[in-house]
Amino acid sequence: MHTLKYLTAYPEPLRAQVSQLIAEERLGDLLRRRYPAAHGIRTDKALYAYVQELKDSYLRQAEPIAKVAYDSKIRVIQHALGLHTAVSRVQGKRLKAKHEIRIGTVFRDAPLPFLRMIAVHELAHLKEKEHDKAFYKLCCWMEPQYHQYEFDLRLYLTWLDLSGERLWAAAA
Ligand SMILES: [Zn+2]
Repeated sequence: MHTLKYLTAYPEPLRAQVSQLIAEERLGDLLRRRYPAAHGIRTDKALYAYVQELKDSYLRQAEPIAKVAYDSKIRVIQHALGLHTAVSRVQGKRLKAKHEIRIGTVFRDAPLPFLRMIAVHELAHLKEKEHDKAFYKLCCWMEPQYHQYEFDLRLYLTWLDLSGERLWAAAA
């Protein structure tokens, strides 16, 4: 039985189904069928533009984001799929937060829904600090399939751990 460390938050029957898929060697095919292609947003510049566009659509009033970048140092485990940092600095007489979003490089060669899910997650932290009800409500407002995408992403991380094979690796 696999430990399924990325799926510990899900109910046992669901985890049993995943174990079954793994045992029958069907997990990779299932993911590839559900998500045929990578998104192609490969540079930090393109990533920033993508996240900024999402912010403009849903969180125009929230504080600005200074930087968005892929970060290979983010070890993807449990909740740490991305990172949102706010460095406070004094500007004149006011304390201003400089928001930066870092996204694990595993999302670079991945389907758009996975990138969108993590971008939505980190953007939601501009308004909600904790992973509470209000936070997930905001996530689901920005992306109604948020929970499905997170689950599928965790399936992919499970697949990566077991096989070491990136399903959507770029051609060059
Ligand atoms: Zn978070």
